[in-house]
Amino acid sequence: MSEELKECPYEDLVNPTRVHVDSYGNVHVCQGISIGNCWETPLSDLIQTYDAQKHPICGPLVRGGPIRLIEEHNIDINSEYVDECHLCYAARLRLIDKYPDYLAPRRVYGLE
Ligand code: SF4
Repeated sequence: MSEELKECPYEDLVNPTRVHVDSYGNVHVCQGISIGNCWETPLSDLIQTYDAQKHPICGPLVRGGPIRLIEEHNIDINSEYVDECHLCYAARLRLIDKYPDYLAPRRVYGLE
């Protein structure tokens, strides 16, 4: 496994300046990483209460990128990955049943 892949290269997960809202109401800080559903909770509340460090997926990513994500969740991944996002996605796919509210919708992961 590479010693790299220690930070998220594309998203500011601590202070996101944009989010994506899908057709189910899920609010994404990166595709497939949800901070809540704006059909259930007002978007302004989701933004104001979001704390990356307390989010089970964003927290590890902020602390040390996709490598930290697999370390903190004890995911055994031995394959090689072409970049941060490839490993991040593979790790999230392994975590989706444990964190369905944070990794949504399943369709993003090709599971529906
Ligand atoms: S897939 Fe993961 S590593 Fe890539 S930009 Fe999104 S959160 Fe960051």
